Amino acid sequence: MSHRVTLIPGDGIGPEVVSAAVRVLGATGVEFDWDTQPAGATAIGEHGSPLPDRTLESIRRNKVALKGPTETPVGTGHRSVNVELRKRLDLYANLRPVKTLPGVKSRYEGVDLVVVRENTEDLYSGLEHIVVPGVVESIKIITEKASTRIARFAFDYARAHGRRQVTAVHKANIMKLSDGLFLDCCRAVAKQFPAVDYQEMIVDNTCMQLVLDPTRFDILLLENLYGDIVSDLCAGFIGGLGMAPGANIGEDIGLFEAVHGSAPDIAGKNLANPIAVVLSGAMMLDHLGEQEAATRVREAVHGVLREGKKLTRDLGGSSGTTEIAEAIAAHL
Ligand code: NAD
Repeated sequence: MSHRVTLIPGDGIGPEVVSAAVRVLGATGVEFDWDTQPAGATAIGEHGSPLPDRTLESIRRNKVALKGPTETPVGTGHRSVNVELRKRLDLYANLRPVKTLPGVKSRYEGVDLVVVRENTEDLYSGLEHIVVPGVVESIKIITEKASTRIARFAFDYARAHGRRQVTAVHKANIMKLSDGLFLDCCRAVAKQFPAVDYQEMIVDNTCMQLVLDPTRFDILLLENLYGDIVSDLCAGFIGGLGMAPGANIGEDIGLFEAVHGSAPDIAGKNLANPIAVVLSGAMMLDHLGEQEAATRVREAVHGVLREGKKLTRDLGGSSGTTEIAEAIAAHL
């Protein structure tokens, strides 16, 4: 059976890393029917919108998407395509595994944690206004419904994947109401999962503890903003953003994309590391029920890394995006 999947190349390095992932996924023997759709800054010229309706319709229809990064202008311009996609498709869980891989030089060994980030509310609700000139207000929304749902996702994930501990990360010492509500929901869900150890940690201390020893953490459960920041911090433990895959999961839709952005500094130069998107593709294969192919993709990536002959610049090598894709495909 062929899997029909929405494919969003996106902006910057997006088209390069996404086509590398398509090359690798094709080499698994699993059949895909790619439904390529526009999104991001590059979509505005041709389609008049960074997130055309046809793209949303395609994802709703296919229920699975593989996405490259999309650019969001800083301080002005269009709203983030990612925030829009996650909110409009109710992709409430952002799942970001962070695992040390063989042969990749980093400051830490044996990191194996999972970031579970709430994806639909918090300060990302986009509710900002000027109160009077010189004074602005950004509204942080935290609801019982979304907090309970993401906590349940984290504990369900822990149970399904044999994980031992969930750490709820917060700043409820300062934001007593909003982060307080988030913690109340996490505690209520934790009670239903007595086999999973539950702990709470203030976000600034969490960052320090992570940098001291990331191996002491298992699942990190965070609101949207803390999750966004901590995800990039964690990517730094395993060789950088080129190595960190991710998924946005809703009730019936899965959208798979790397943690990294469009990396305009290296776009169009065949320098980007495609492994983060390739590993996001492996997560997509799991989601599609193609576990055996997913395992083979991960093993092929590990094989290329272990050999260390073909590496992109971010990992200390001099190979291009396309060469890495070919090397992984050859392993498959
Ligand atoms: P970025 O992730 O694009 O880049 C940060 C740094 O990491 C850069 O030095 C870049 O070269 C490097 N990097 C990122 N991916 C890499 C890869 N695959 N291989 C090698 N090096 C890689 O973050 P940024 O510069 O803060 O953001 C650039 C744009 O991306 C912004 O418009 C931002 O809004 C957008 N963004 C999009 C997403 C998404 O679509 N999911 C996520 C984050 C940022």
